[in-house]
Amino acid sequence: MTSGAMGPGVLDALTLSTLERCDRTRSAVARGALADAVWRHGDRVALRHDCVLGAGADVLRGAQRAKRRLATSLWRCELCGKTFESEHFLDKHLARRHPATHDGGAVCLADLCGVVVPCPRAHDPPVSTALLRGEQRPQYAPNSASPCVHKREYETRRNTCVRVIQNCVMPNHDPDGQVRRYLETRLCDAALAVECGRPVPKHEKLRSGGGGVTNADVIMVFVIAMLAYTYFWLRRRARRSARYRLPTIWGKKRR
Ligand SMILES: [Zn+2]
Repeated sequence: MTSGAMGPGVLDALTLSTLERCDRTRSAVARGALADAVWRHGDRVALRHDCVLGAGADVLRGAQRAKRRLATSLWRCELCGKTFESEHFLDKHLARRHPATHDGGAVCLADLCGVVVPCPRAHDPPVSTALLRGEQRPQYAPNSASPCVHKREYETRRNTCVRVIQNCVMPNHDPDGQVRRYLETRLCDAALAVECGRPVPKHEKLRSGGGGVTNADVIMVFVIAMLAYTYFWLRRRARRSARYRLPTIWGKKRR
């Protein structure tokens, strides 16, 4: 386990403050949405290492690694061995007892909700170290009114998301822009749709293999065509030679 409870001294003040105020419940929703839309596609959606949508950007990654599900309703804290009936109680425990558990990331995924990530409302109440200490008030009401009503604010929010995606996707991994189009629909449009209570738009299916038709695809088709041609050529030749050999074999036999 790499989550190691790094002391607050190791963390810079900004990361520590992000960690302490980050809502763990809503972050889990965002994490699930990102895993489904982005991470499960692996190298197909190759993101820059510093992209906020990458799994490594999650400020709670260390805390996530400290969570172990033992059964449907049994969770264990890997830092102290205590067990809990639900993930929510374990989140509360981690926020209270191991608030500085950190593993490299600096982004609170909950902050991406509604802009870059579609986040349906969570079943459990929000959890953060700051909330438990009484330093913060729950801010669950999404700021949905403005972009859902005002077209200009809608555009502004969508453009913010599009820029994030442009900065994240490596152009050489997406020559025809398919990955960017997929992410714009799957994340930007879906985030706004969920926020405004509208139906989530259908997204283009992500083609397997590198963006569009790559050199590897062309080479593969060429090799298959060559193999097929060679096979049929050899078969034809074998048939012809058999026809020619027939009389000589008869002749040999007669002698
Ligand atoms: Zn613990």
